[in-house]
Amino acid sequence: MLDLLLPQRCLVCGATGPQLCAGCRAALPVLGPPLCERCGAPTAWPVRRCNECAGRRLAFATARAAVAYDDAVRLLVAGWKERGLRRLADDAAEVVAGRLPRPGDAVLTFVPPDRDRRITRGYHPAERLAAALAARWSIPCEPLLTRSGRSRRQRGLSLPERRRNVAGVFHARTRPPARIVLVDDVYTSGATVSAAASALRAAGARHVDVVTFARALRGTSPVGLGRGQQPT
Ligand SMILES: [Zn+2]
Ligand SMILES: [Zn+2]
Repeated sequence: MLDLLLPQRCLVCGATGPQLCAGCRAALPVLGPPLCERCGAPTAWPVRRCNECAGRRLAFATARAAVAYDDAVRLLVAGWKERGLRRLADDAAEVVAGRLPRPGDAVLTFVPPDRDRRITRGYHPAERLAAALAARWSIPCEPLLTRSGRSRRQRGLSLPERRRNVAGVFHARTRPPARIVLVDDVYTSGATVSAAASALRAAGARHVDVVTFARALRGTSPVGLGRGQQPT
């Protein structure tokens, strides 16, 4: 509804028109190689593990994102998450499908929302992104995970706190297929997607890859988890 009632402006530059104007779309900070093979962090040359993920037990095989989580992308994601601007899920899916290869022989799923947050927002960006990607890639999307209990928002927590905060909150609804692509809106520390991937693997999935629209970069803020970033 809000999408229809409010005058449309670009969330990044404020120009009247689409929520993401052509100029700002062309200027999105897309991510490309060289990357860390495992967690998708941009690196000086291709590596199998980087400073960010070395020594961490990650339940996913690879993580990839379309764009860096910079100030412009933060504005987009905030509009998408907090205001439920639906058109942005399609925009994000278009950007992701334009950057990342179509996964073969896999089923898409998404990180389920916190129950309280789904009720207050009535809208779940990761699910919308997964559905829009599934349509573009012509592969199935299934709600494979549930989320139990209450986790605090990840924002402002240290990495060990983030890991503890989401440990054990995800469960598979059914026996999952062997190959899964797990979709979320933003990859921040990887703690949430790793916990979700861990639940899928515990239930029988053999291989879980992670795809997100945006990815926080450690190089852009001293601790990589700056204020205002969304918990993931
Ligand atoms: Zn713009
Ligand atoms: Zn890495």
